[in-house]
Amino acid sequence: MKISGVWLDNPGTQAVLGMLTGAGYQALAVGGCVRNALLGVPVTDVDIATDALPETVSNLAETAGLRAVPTGIAHGTVTIVAQGEGFEVTSFRHDDESFGRHARVSFGADLAQDAARRDFTMNALYAQADGTVIDPLGGLPDLLARRLRFVGDAEARIHEDYLRVLRFFRFHAQYGDPAQGLDPDALAACAANSAMLETLSRERVTAELRKLLAAADPAPSVAAMAQAGVLNAVLPGADARLLPVLVHLEDGAPGGWLRRLAMLTGDADGLRLSKAETREFGKIRDAFGSMHSPAALGWTLGETLGADAVLGRAALFENHAPEGWHADVKRGAEAQFPLKPADLMPALQGPDLGTAIRQAQAQWLASDLSLGKEALLSRLGLA
Ligand code: ATP
Ligand code: MG
Repeated sequence: MKISGVWLDNPGTQAVLGMLTGAGYQALAVGGCVRNALLGVPVTDVDIATDALPETVSNLAETAGLRAVPTGIAHGTVTIVAQGEGFEVTSFRHDDESFGRHARVSFGADLAQDAARRDFTMNALYAQADGTVIDPLGGLPDLLARRLRFVGDAEARIHEDYLRVLRFFRFHAQYGDPAQGLDPDALAACAANSAMLETLSRERVTAELRKLLAAADPAPSVAAMAQAGVLNAVLPGADARLLPVLVHLEDGAPGGWLRRLAMLTGDADGLRLSKAETREFGKIRDAFGSMHSPAALGWTLGETLGADAVLGRAALFENHAPEGWHADVKRGAEAQFPLKPADLMPALQGPDLGTAIRQAQAQWLASDLSLGKEALLSRLGLA
């Protein structure tokens, strides 16, 4: 089986692979890029595996005039910059013993050992520079059947790294077949180890949840997480029941991992969100309790958050989103409040002016943005 794609054929990828194979080493694209290419979904980053040791990788890069950055030297990863793009090159490795995150890593392993240390069979697929796929563990049939399977014994692999519990649900949401359900043994192993998730860093947990909740339909995976006690281990107090309702209402609307998060919980303190995300999350949650029309929400929150609010609120009340809601949110986001402070002066000044503007705004929002300048002035007794 052969694959192709710009990610593989582009000069940067070929330069890094060629630099290694030209010196007599093995060099293969591995993991997400190969998996996604086989599924026909976009490839975001290209990871490369090689039997050359990290030091050799750096030396070869230097000789080839490419920048090499030791980004994860403990794990054998050197990032090589070629054609302005970064490629993570990781030496074949064998994880002798793992203590949670801290694997005792040894290099000089072969491809079979490198495959065996990876998490899922669909993530242990390799491709040579010409696109020939190498599948040491039978990951290809799993991938084509959209079956997420641990490499080796799930329980043992989870003990090596508890993050794999979250990766299990995340990859199922992204690439699994929702109709199939999750592998029962793996699910039992996740449930048995849910209490260990508190040992993970907030950054790693947040990164996994972000990807999980951004999947087209994360609801089946999240329901399984809830049942296994995993959801509450990472989001105490979360409730998964309304997520499928929300996803149904979204009807393919793009983005929105924060909207989905807000549907699960009001408390994201256990996660590591950016400042902007924290602000947006708060606004979405607050809007769930608002009585504003979709247009008024669009004006108050902008198009994206306004849509989040309308959808979330409809899900919460297990209602349909109102007819034409999206156009209304958009109309609100583009609307201009008809009054300017100058329109109220000199009749009103100082604090009175501010109060009147706020009053007029509330009336305008309550009118679904229909009141014009004259009507607003007359309601203020100024016209
Ligand atoms: P994406 O980047 O699209 O989320 P990916 O498969 O590239 O998916 P990464 O987290 O970037 O996922 O990891 C790259 C590869 O490294 C994986 O495909 C897998 O083979 C291996 N890997 C990453 N994290 C782990 C882990 N915790 N345990 C075992 N193998 C892992
Ligand atoms: Mg990746």
